[in-house]
Amino acid sequence: MQSLKYLIGYPEHLQAQVRSLIEQDRLGGILRDKYGESHAVRNDRQLYEYTVQMKDRYLRKAEPLARVAYDNRLQMVKHALGTHTTVSRVQGSRLKASREIRIASVFREAPAEFLKMIVVHELAHLKQSEHNKPFYQLCTHMAADYHQLEFDLRLYLTHLECGKPQANPVDESN
Ligand SMILES: [Zn+2]
Repeated sequence: MQSLKYLIGYPEHLQAQVRSLIEQDRLGGILRDKYGESHAVRNDRQLYEYTVQMKDRYLRKAEPLARVAYDNRLQMVKHALGTHTTVSRVQGSRLKASREIRIASVFREAPAEFLKMIVVHELAHLKQSEHNKPFYQLCTHMAADYHQLEFDLRLYLTHLECGKPQANPVDESN
């Protein structure tokens, strides 16, 4: 049976539904109907502006962002769609923490709502490092339908993965 790595932890009946949509070749169409809107955030400068705009709207008091960038390498790392790091640099005589967000480059081509979802997720990490209740409260504050978006993003990533030619049929899940 095909393992759905982006849906690990979701109930088996849900995974079975998704598998049957894939087998009937319907998942892509369903996602296209629901998330037809693309975005124009093509490069790192635009991504920075997009993220700062959202931050100014919802998390004005959180630390400023030094850098926001698309990252090609992230999509190869399982479950790492975006990262948030605090880079400490010596500035003069004091250490200054500088916040950096990286977004997997798969989001450059993804529907607008999924870019919003991952940016919301990474912004929420400015205040909460764990995926706990306050974290998800921040997420739904910025995007009321956050939970639905995150689930549908997992469907989207599953769909992208299924569309790839199977160069290596060995199950690499571990
Ligand atoms: Zn996270």
